[in-house]
Parts: sequence; structure tokens; C-alpha cells
Amino acid sequence: MLIKNVKVYTEEKTFQDGEIAIENGRFVKDFPAGGKVIDGGGCYAIPGLIDLHFHGCKGFDFCDGTEEAIAEIARYEAAVGVTGIAPATMTLPVEELLHILSTAASYKETAKEENPKGAELLGINMEGPFISAKKKGAQDARHILACRVDTCREFLKASQGLVKFIGIAPEENAQATEFIRQMKGQVHISLAHTNADYDTAMAAFASGADHVVHLYNAMPAFTHRAPGVVGATADSPHVRAELICDGVHIHPSVVRATFRMIDEDRLLLISDSMRATGMPNGRYTLGGLEVEVLGNRASLVKGGALAGSVTNLMDCMKIAVQKMRLPLETAVACATMQPAKALGVYESRGSLTPGKAADLVLLTRDLKTQLVIKDGKEITV
Ligand SMILES: [Zn+2]
Repeated sequence: MLIKNVKVYTEEKTFQDGEIAIENGRFVKDFPAGGKVIDGGGCYAIPGLIDLHFHGCKGFDFCDGTEEAIAEIARYEAAVGVTGIAPATMTLPVEELLHILSTAASYKETAKEENPKGAELLGINMEGPFISAKKKGAQDARHILACRVDTCREFLKASQGLVKFIGIAPEENAQATEFIRQMKGQVHISLAHTNADYDTAMAAFASGADHVVHLYNAMPAFTHRAPGVVGATADSPHVRAELICDGVHIHPSVVRATFRMIDEDRLLLISDSMRATGMPNGRYTLGGLEVEVLGNRASLVKGGALAGSVTNLMDCMKIAVQKMRLPLETAVACATMQPAKALGVYESRGSLTPGKAADLVLLTRDLKTQLVIKDGKEITV
């Protein structure tokens, strides 16, 4: 396949007029003889997006714990241009989490043959259960636990290595430093749903934690005398941070300020989307709790806390550009290359470089999705 007349997004985060050749599911240097030719009509050609923190869509949640749910989620995401996914688990009983993780591992074994039009399952992002009840957000406090190395090892084993991030609230656990030292290298330790102050967050980062779950949300506010997790993230160059750019969770001005304060190579756009994404307004559940969805807002029926988003990552990226005024080049990097690097898959995905899996999206000049290609195959939007 040859896609000609496109603005090709490069690894240097620029657009260059050119064409893209695909053969046997991969990007290649030269046009394969006899292949299909598509006129891109001057569209932007960007890598398929990668969402490394979301819960569900189309009525399904990753924590439903069925292969059917993962398959449906993967199909919806690919159809909207999110060709790589690392769904998130909620705070649930350990037995239930182990079941969800092993279900994901067995889905992965046959996904290539049985769900070829689904987004690639690249990992799992565990948001609980080692978090703080004080910043639980929409997580169920009854299942929160102190962080434990043996439990974490069980999670990694059940998922057959799919778990890439595990969240902790370091201020809650005297053993947090030891936990980080023992687990780093096997899984990324993130600060998640935490009430940590600046010093506690800095100590966790110094021990080896290197990821932050939805910066600003479910953590202390960033203020001039108490910079908290946000200030500690800015001051720790090895740490990556997720941002929910659905236009509801973070004010556009704060998103712009964050991009001035933290190098864009450390920022990841995520959707944090829940099962009502792609569905009408109404009542849904998240992690066993009831959620009311109205327009682009999902909140707990009891207490009103924000309960994830109802905006897929493609729409979040478009909001980041069109409503938050981030440069397109930056927003694309933070929804493609950066998450691929965070997940450790940049060698095979996350850019349009020859040799990599051919996952790409064509966007018109006003960012309407024209075409999605996953592993070299066209997916109908
Ligand atoms: Zn989440």
C-alpha cells in the first residue's frame, strides 16, 4: 500500500510533505510493487494513538473481567484511531484483580487472530489498590490496601507481564520506599490517588518511582508554599506524567502552564475514559460505583466526584489542539511517541518509521479523522 500526498509526522515531531509505504503490516522505505495507492489529499499522517490510561467505552469496562469486554473495547478504540491500548484497573478485591489480569493475558494470546481489527493490547495500568482513601476520587475505599511486594508480584504473574504501571500513595505506607526499591525495574511505580506532600513525593521519585497518574487529579493542589506531587514531578526529570485533556478534568490554562513547566517529552495525554464513552447520557458503573453521565461529564451519583471521562483519546488530542491551543506537533507526540516510550514499545510502535507496525491515522487540516490503519489494514471509522 502507498499513501501519497500526505504531511508525514516525523520522529523529530515535525510534518513533512511526502508519502508512506506499507507492506506486510509494516512501514517500509519503498513502495511495494502492485500495491494499492491511496491519495491522502494533503491530510496529516500521524501514528496511531496509544491510550495508557482508560477504563472502558461502548458500554464495556476492562474490569468487567471478560475477553468479550476487552475485544469490544479494543475494536472501538481502533475504530477511532487509538490503535494501542493499556487499560487501567480500579481498586477492587485482590482476587477480582487477579482474575481481570489473567483474563487480559489470555485475550492477548489469541487477539491477533480473533480480533484483528482491535487495538493492540500493549499493557495494563493498575490505578489501585495501593492508594490513599483521602484522595480516592471514584475508587472504592473498601478495597484499598497497603502496598505489598508479594501482592504486586502476584499481579505481574497473573498478567504475564502485561502490567506496566502500578500506582501507590507513598504517604500511606511506611514500607513504600522498600516497595519501590524492590519492584522498580519489573514495573513502573506511579504515584496515584495520593495525598503526598512535596518531600514525600520527591523521596518516592528518588527511590525509583517514575510515573504519575493523572497529574492534578486525585492529589493535593499545586500551591506556592505546598507544591505537592505536581512540584515534585516538575523537579524530577526522570518522571513522566499523565494529563486528562478532555476539557473537564484540567482547565486549559493549567494544561498550557504545565507544558511550560514540564518538558513535553515527559507528558502523556490520556483519556481516563469509562464505559459510557461512545454511549448516550445515563447511569453507568465504574469500579462497582454508580455514575451519572451528562454530556462530557461523568460523576459519582453519591458525592459527585468526577468518575473518569467520556471522551476517547483521539477527541482529547483534538481538544488539546483546538480548545487548549497546544501545537498539533506536541499533542501528537504526547498521544503517540511518548506513551509508546512509557510502555517500552517505541521500537515497534509509536512512530511512522520503516520497520515498525503500520498503525496510522489520516487527519484532515481541521482534524477530522479520514482513515485509520492498524497493522497495515484499513479500519472503517
Ligand atoms: Zn483512571
